[in-house]
Amino acid sequence: MKTSHFERFGVSPSVMIHASDVRKSYGSYEVLKGVNVSVPNGSVACIIGPSGSGKSTFLRCINHLEEINGGLLLVDGDFVGYRLKDDKLHELRASQICARRAEIGMVFQHFNLFPHMTVLENLIEAPVRVRGEKRAEARQHALELLRRVGLAEKASAFPRQLSGGQQQRVAIARALAMRPKVLLFDEPTSALDPELVGEVLSVMKDLARDGMTMVVVTHEIGFAREVADQLIFMDGGTVMEQGDPREMIANPKSPRTREFLAKVL
Ligand code: ADP
Ligand code: MG
Repeated sequence: MKTSHFERFGVSPSVMIHASDVRKSYGSYEVLKGVNVSVPNGSVACIIGPSGSGKSTFLRCINHLEEINGGLLLVDGDFVGYRLKDDKLHELRASQICARRAEIGMVFQHFNLFPHMTVLENLIEAPVRVRGEKRAEARQHALELLRRVGLAEKASAFPRQLSGGQQQRVAIARALAMRPKVLLFDEPTSALDPELVGEVLSVMKDLARDGMTMVVVTHEIGFAREVADQLIFMDGGTVMEQGDPREMIANPKSPRTREFLAKVL
């Protein structure tokens, strides 16, 4: 029962993502060394940090693409997997993992659209196959989402016919087509030509304004300053510093944060 997970661990039901002491190793190499993060419903968290600090791994754990080795990770009160001190991992069945992943949208650096499908088909595929939506209903929703990301006229185009910025906006619409309760972005603008970054950030800003809960790994400090409710600086597999974005950018407390910000600002 959801409520009992919230209560059991003293987590407020208004928290979408709760990570405490989350650990993840590949063999003997510990990538996440006890990550503590809390993302309230309807808020935006931006994660920054040097390459190799574990940002993608953390997102992959939230999305059940990796199994954690320790700590507690809850998404909307549901276990992602956890070990307590007795080292007993709460295993989820494959069907449970599928159902949970369907509720978590993910947008990648390289769009990952299905190349052999039109834009509209890209958006309809998962809602029909995974959520069991009727085709007509999924189509209606897809067209609505394409309007929302400004690409209504591209419904029957193939991904290769679109610019990178347009492809990424389709990828965002595709994630939204599953009606997710949280959206994870892993460097969504890093692969784009500079002049195409703005259109993608603008779609993300609209989503934030509409109250979508989002976790965004990004080097776009301007976006973080303007849109994020909290900024999280990861370094060496831990959260080195977190807080109000404006405050942190203007006045970083840790020398590592200061050093990193000086490079990306
Ligand atoms: P970031 O996204 O912050 O750049 P990552 O989460 O991708 O960092 O990676 C963190 C560290 O974990 C890196 O040193 C990377 O080489 C290592 N790593 C990531 N995935 C794997 C894997 N599947 N197997 C082994 N090591 C991995
Ligand atoms: Mg990464």
